[in-house]
Amino acid sequence: MRVADVPDPVVREPGDAVVRVTRAAICGSDLHYLHGKTPIEPGDVIGHEAVGFVESAGPGVTRFSPGDRVIVSFDLACGACWFCSKGQTALCDDVRVLGGGPFGGSVPGAQAERVLVPAADVNLLLVPGGLDDERALFVGDVLTTGYYAASLAGIAPGDVVAVVGAGPVGFFCVQAARVMGAGKVFSIDPDRPRLALAAMVGAEPVDPADRHPESVLAEATGGRGADVAIEAVGSTPAFERAVGVVRRGGTVAVVGVYAGETAQIQLGVYWARALTLRFAGLCPIHAWWERALAEVEAGRIDPMPLISHRLPLEEAPLGYELFERREATKVVLLP
Ligand SMILES: [Zn+2]
Ligand SMILES: [Zn+2]
Repeated sequence: MRVADVPDPVVREPGDAVVRVTRAAICGSDLHYLHGKTPIEPGDVIGHEAVGFVESAGPGVTRFSPGDRVIVSFDLACGACWFCSKGQTALCDDVRVLGGGPFGGSVPGAQAERVLVPAADVNLLLVPGGLDDERALFVGDVLTTGYYAASLAGIAPGDVVAVVGAGPVGFFCVQAARVMGAGKVFSIDPDRPRLALAAMVGAEPVDPADRHPESVLAEATGGRGADVAIEAVGSTPAFERAVGVVRRGGTVAVVGVYAGETAQIQLGVYWARALTLRFAGLCPIHAWWERALAEVEAGRIDPMPLISHRLPLEEAPLGYELFERREATKVVLLP
């Protein structure tokens, strides 16, 4: 990971816009490039969480003008295909991921001074006047992903919700679950600083080293288990934990990212327990970000406790090291 000079992006297609980035962030999925879980070519620019202002726009861009402050979506959709018309923009025929390497369509990323955004009318969202950049920053990815996961889980008022994983997505799942009327929200994670953050936004922290999560959830529900479990890690043990803490007839929403992992499941158990499994896939940001942003504006979802470090873009490699070592909960880069 290093910082280098690359040519400035320029508008090529009529729908393109160039955004001058004012804040970018390092996402947990960026670490997958370092670990080889997602392929990347030497010299590729990564990063997909950004806010900034439109610097130039092609003649086909009608919703934005130079100077507009905008949030960039991490998944880039065409806005015109059947899936996009149904709001399932992450399943778009031409879906690409900003800074996502060859599997993401080789679109240069946003941990940079400038980023080219294709189909800008679709893939940008205006930042409301009174909202500062850092509060808006995560709406293009982790914040809205957490909101989407909680929505997918179909939380009913008073539900007891278990969120497995207290990373950035889990942090926002907790807040979104509360916004959606959850009675109690439990956050399950072995990482103490992450648990403390989840507790700060209203979760009851559960460290599996201290208390068995299945017992905690059973005690909280008259022996039944959580009404809803949200898996926000992306590992087989986390999936199994989510299934383990949910009551019969409950819902498990799986938002953690999976690649080659496998799990053996006994179909009869799932069938007899009448479980609802909802696999999130990539978050269709475009269908959810206006609702998520409204919660941020209203102060009901607060991203600020998550930010542990602010670094100039030149120090991005240090940011990656801190994040990798879990000394940072979220690193914001200032280009
Ligand atoms: Zn991300
Ligand atoms: Zn599409």
